[in-house]
Amino acid sequence: MKKHLVNAIIDIPKGSNIKYEFDRETGKVIVDRILYGANVYPYNYGYIENTIDWDGDELDILIISDHSFAPGCQVPTRIIGAMKMIDDGETDTKLIGVIDCDPRWNDVNNLDDLNQHRLAEIKDFFENYKNLQNKKVDIQGFENVTWAIKEYAHCQELFTKYSKLPKAEFLTKMKKEFPDKYTV
Ligand SMILES: [Mg+2]
Repeated sequence: MKKHLVNAIIDIPKGSNIKYEFDRETGKVIVDRILYGANVYPYNYGYIENTIDWDGDELDILIISDHSFAPGCQVPTRIIGAMKMIDDGETDTKLIGVIDCDPRWNDVNNLDDLNQHRLAEIKDFFENYKNLQNKKVDIQGFENVTWAIKEYAHCQELFTKYSKLPKAEFLTKMKKEFPDKYTV
């Protein structure tokens, strides 16, 4: 089976409740907020460089591993699927990957290879992590690795076309051209 490898850049370590975010304009990692509730990220969370998702930010990715990684570091990651999500009316897909430089995870190549409770845990986290901000996140289910790779390619294409466009302008343009990606 072909491996789909990316270098994921870590924003948030597994087990943290600090919402670090990469700021494309300044190149800095910024503390956006501390999660309002008692939840912590179940897995490392980051993004893939040179991509733009429909929310105007880099494409997000969860990196499943037994360890926590520091914000800003790069982790070789094997894409195994995706979770479809709408946050604040915008498509905000989370790719799902596993660490590729730890042989303990060598047998995991798609979502079916995971203990399925891990997926329930991921869904539960994202469904509820903004509850105390009175914001609702809509999870639309999981997709396999083939879908995830296609979405990744699409986000690379958006980057190629629109990386110079300020985020607000990008969103206005996309909402007009691809209304199905937005609910508001
Ligand atoms: Mg996003």
